[in-house]
Amino acid sequence: MRVLVVEDEKKVARALREGLEAEHYDVRVASSGEEGFFLVNNELFDCVVLDLMLPHRDGLEILATVRKRGLQTPVLILTAKDTIHDRVRGLDSGADDYLVKPFAIPELLARIRALLRRGRTDQVLKLQHEDLEMDLVTRKVARAGQAIELTVKEFEILEYLLRHVSRVVSREMLTRDVWHVAARATPLDNVIDVSIARLRRKIDDAFPVKLLQTVRGVGFVLRRERG
Ligand code: CA
Repeated sequence: MRVLVVEDEKKVARALREGLEAEHYDVRVASSGEEGFFLVNNELFDCVVLDLMLPHRDGLEILATVRKRGLQTPVLILTAKDTIHDRVRGLDSGADDYLVKPFAIPELLARIRALLRRGRTDQVLKLQHEDLEMDLVTRKVARAGQAIELTVKEFEILEYLLRHVSRVVSREMLTRDVWHVAARATPLDNVIDVSIARLRRKIDDAFPVKLLQTVRGVGFVLRRERG
């Protein structure tokens, strides 16, 4: 289980790292809002511990931005101010739980275990990017209101891309998270490329604005074509 800790206070960050590592979590620490924002957009974590009072970039603003982009990872916020206002703002911005500083490490560990067990409670049932929509319950996909038929695998790839909107998804990520294969291999890379090409035909060919882009040498990204 990978946990990202975004905390600028060195003492608190160190205590969090030690506590989490003792429980065998794989821990990354970001000491600024910028670094935390970069990591959360570029790596996969099972849980994020986010301090709200960060230099340069406010924790709540980071949280609201990544939730808007579709990030589903459970987020526990740390707040120094025990005011109802702060807590409500945090939960409104997409936090799953919060702890008021100072807190005891065992309590934090218990909260993280609970978050990982239950996942996000307000599971998103629809994913959307521009005019492309996916209903996770009926498993229907449409663009500009026009139904698109996808195979099971194409649906899974598109769901993964929609959950990572505007972030580049590498072939390694697709290998691991969509095909559930441990190591990347050339034959599978070819299968991935063929699947992406088919998916692109279905979601983009009939529309002037292309959404599924290839980033040469890196992977794929769902975002509006740059003119
Ligand atoms: Ca702080």
